[in-house]
Amino acid sequence: MSFTGNVLTIDLKNQSFEEMEIEEGLYARYTGIVGVAYHFAEEFVKSNEDFVILAAGVLTNTRLPGATKVLAITKNPLNGTFGLAVGGGAFARDMKKAGYDLIILRDFSDKPIYLVVDDKEIKIEDASKLWGRDIVETTDYLKEKYRGSVLSIGKAGENEVPIALTLIDAIHHLGKGGLGAVLGAKRVKAIVVSGKKEAKIAEKEKFEKERKELIKRMRGDQVTKQYRDIGIMAVWDLWWKLGYLNYKNKSIAVGKEILDEFGVEKYKEKIKRSSIGCSPCLSPCKSLLEVEIDGEKLKTKVSLYLGVAYEFGVKCGIKRAEEAVKCHDYANKLGIDAMIFAEIFDALATFFDEAKIFEDEIGFPIKRDAETVLKLLEMTANKEGLGEYIGIGFKGLEERFGKWVRREVVNIKNMEIIFDPRISFGSESFGLLTNPRGGQEGPVTITVIPGRKEGSLRRYMERIGASKELIEKTFENGFNSALYTLAAENWLWVLNGQGICRRESITRSLDINVVSRLFSYATGIEADAEKMVDGAAKAFTIARKLNCMQGYSKKDDLPPSRLFEPLKVGDEYKVWRDYLTGGELGMDRIEEMLEEYYEWRGWSKDGCP
Ligand code: SF4
Repeated sequence: MSFTGNVLTIDLKNQSFEEMEIEEGLYARYTGIVGVAYHFAEEFVKSNEDFVILAAGVLTNTRLPGATKVLAITKNPLNGTFGLAVGGGAFARDMKKAGYDLIILRDFSDKPIYLVVDDKEIKIEDASKLWGRDIVETTDYLKEKYRGSVLSIGKAGENEVPIALTLIDAIHHLGKGGLGAVLGAKRVKAIVVSGKKEAKIAEKEKFEKERKELIKRMRGDQVTKQYRDIGIMAVWDLWWKLGYLNYKNKSIAVGKEILDEFGVEKYKEKIKRSSIGCSPCLSPCKSLLEVEIDGEKLKTKVSLYLGVAYEFGVKCGIKRAEEAVKCHDYANKLGIDAMIFAEIFDALATFFDEAKIFEDEIGFPIKRDAETVLKLLEMTANKEGLGEYIGIGFKGLEERFGKWVRREVVNIKNMEIIFDPRISFGSESFGLLTNPRGGQEGPVTITVIPGRKEGSLRRYMERIGASKELIEKTFENGFNSALYTLAAENWLWVLNGQGICRRESITRSLDINVVSRLFSYATGIEADAEKMVDGAAKAFTIARKLNCMQGYSKKDDLPPSRLFEPLKVGDEYKVWRDYLTGGELGMDRIEEMLEEYYEWRGWSKDGCP
């Protein structure tokens, strides 16, 4: 079996640990690790206990390219949801090599510690000398001392800032929504995992044949090569053209000047030094950057250069790419989620320009420059002045400046959004409403680009395992983005359950039948496409149930009113339209779609299981 069947529970208060076997039936029921992890999470939520669960995808540690993901579940301090976090690197592989599918942290330590989880021993070490050090320093220190992968928090996590995340090996983000703050509250500075245990594959020959065929398909795919070369910067110009690169509280797309300074050419020639990937992966899409700034060389790792350009170039309005890289480096060292930080910064700068907030109430002007960004990053990590409010998300701005802010900002469940439904209303944007973690993005599929034909959409739904009935229902009256999204969410959670990366360079070579065969051969649990999708849907429903237990319901899924105002892209004004027919949509239709979606998931009219 490719899974270890073991869970390690660490009691932080008593500084003790316990190993337990996971009931094998759970893997068959949920056909992936996500449902198994949520099964444990539900028990903790019911007993009102604080917890963090780290889970390694079922196909990690099998040498399957792209099977690299570790998952995290906790109560996210940013919004109180129990949404899933997914991170890359080799942490999942090393968890499995240490002998565990799940690592659970219970209770709180009363002093700073770091955890070492090895296949030979578990150590709880004093971290008082690491407390206060940044993520890069902490990671370097622990990597030198131990083999394996290091997950660490920075100053923002230590200070329990709700927009603090963790970094794996100082590059791969994990835990948007505040995992960094949760670990900070538990006084866990870092977790090191390593070991030598190999996965046992139930049907080795069949699995190897499938794996080799997959490698062949990936090697022959243009997108694999493109990712190795420029990562997802491949979409930069197209995103600009469509209007995804917008700012001023999502009211206007940025001008053409952004393309040169933050474009592919400059990235390749002047900024990127080498590619970095998760392990194992044939399309390493991350990179080591090197820039010269203020007469000094700065080297930093980045999981998504497009993110740097989008966050600090587009949203914060920093003019030079080198300065944006410096801001990215600082946010990473502090362990701040730069994506939500940048959206909030954009809101502040917009309010300042529109004379809705003033220098005398803040203490300094909000200028769209690196100096102001760096200052506010520092203040956020230290919970100082305005930084304390930035750290709690959009709600913080409302708390600081008044209720009027709510009408101006665009967020869902206190989380920023990336994919704007006024540009393309597919799974990426409908999924903003139903993402168990809140906002940010729905599953990214072919609808990220507008204009696909019905035939392509139908074929795509078949590939990802949607039932015939669901496909017919989706196209019954034109196109139902909600039901299309439901199919895409199930597919994404099938992938998450295996630990398979969702990036195009990986998923283009997969479909539901390939994944179900890989799962069956690796685990010895027979599962067809339907069973795989059913297992993922069950996990998704538990996540929703846990959110409902916190008071979430349909009212929280409704989009912010700003999204029904036009978005200016060049000379054009874009409004929210049906993906296929192009008919304009209003809140009524979105509500109807939500109800159809809930019904299909077997939830109540109010959106709760
Ligand atoms: S495509 Fe990128 S994110 Fe996905 S596994 Fe490879 S390196 Fe990691």
